[in-house]
Amino acid sequence: MKGNIIKTIYDYKLNELQSIIKPSFRAKQVYNWIYKKYATNYLEMNNLPNILKEDLENKFPINIAKIISVEKSIDGSIKYLFEFNDKTTVEAVLLLMKDKKTDETGKITKSEQYTFCISSQVGCKVGCSFCLTAKGGFTRDLTAGEIVAQVLYLKKENNIDENKSVNIVYMGMGEPLDNYDNLVQAIKILSEENGLNINTRRQTISTSGISSKIDKLTKEDLGIQLAISLHAVDDNLRSELIPMNKAYNIQSIIDAVKRFPVDTRKKIMFEYLVIKDKNDDIKSADKLAKLLSGIEAKVNLIYFNPFEGVDYQRPSRNNMVKFQEYLLSKNVICTIRESKGLDISAACGQLKEKNKIEG
Ligand code: SAH
Ligand code: SF4
Repeated sequence: MKGNIIKTIYDYKLNELQSIIKPSFRAKQVYNWIYKKYATNYLEMNNLPNILKEDLENKFPINIAKIISVEKSIDGSIKYLFEFNDKTTVEAVLLLMKDKKTDETGKITKSEQYTFCISSQVGCKVGCSFCLTAKGGFTRDLTAGEIVAQVLYLKKENNIDENKSVNIVYMGMGEPLDNYDNLVQAIKILSEENGLNINTRRQTISTSGISSKIDKLTKEDLGIQLAISLHAVDDNLRSELIPMNKAYNIQSIIDAVKRFPVDTRKKIMFEYLVIKDKNDDIKSADKLAKLLSGIEAKVNLIYFNPFEGVDYQRPSRNNMVKFQEYLLSKNVICTIRESKGLDISAACGQLKEKNKIEG
């Protein structure tokens, strides 16, 4: 974490807090208040001694973000704009879907399944030509605590039961692997059993493909899910779309993905943003199928979502379906991301397109 950034109560794993707060069982109580009872001030922590509350109040900010706007979509997804103390803002989205589950008797039940789309940076350095976040440039990395706070505040805001698990996709603003250390710390804090208890298998990092950082993740073996924003099968086009492709080309990403440990029940998600007349042809689909051979992959086709001033266009439904059918015929699992929250007037092009990443 950089020099002048103050650590907040959300920046610590439980064992770290236990080495700071004495006696250490108090740390567990604080964790319980924050992550199970959603307390956002120390005063309400009525089983803590006053002296400790004062000490915590002075040392660790607890009110670090405000929700300054909320937009609801007719399909139930909700977009939140968070403002941090330095007035910077990021978006987070709550997506709702029905999840099929089987109960003890084998009966299929349906329950509400929440997925949170969380931001990792204010802006982004990667500069993709199709992305609205890129147009605003880069302001700063989010701290681990600011990443954690988005999740916590969304759970609190929506009165989601402490025991109800949620899925997280790091697909909001920013390139998560460009903020590696803070992201990994946040993932660990979020998965603390005594905290929000969000298993790493329920957390998905979406990356534009920083191969060296994918390898770093591989070594860390967190059990996290990976989504690769591939978008093109040809390096020229991919470099036009994602300038960083010049440093980390398609083959380097595929090689890194092949080294990544995959949960046996899961697959690596490949996101493929479909742009009219750019990458929506069957030749590309064929190349994609070949590229992914030997990988436990699942392709998610995303309609390019146009915004003012951009030259690219949304593909036709017909081309999307043909692309999908071709991949399926080659035995590549492929879904089309039906836009959730399309009616939300989002400032951030991609957020409103986020849909289900399985949990
Ligand atoms: N930086 C990471 C995560 C945030 S972007 C990444 O690039 O993966 C999340 C997703 O939104 C990416 O797959 C990105 O390609 C997609 N996206 C960006 N702009 C979009 C647009 N205009 N229409 C549809 N999807 C978009
Ligand atoms: Fe950054 Fe992802 Fe947008 Fe590219 S698509 S500019 S990596 S947020």
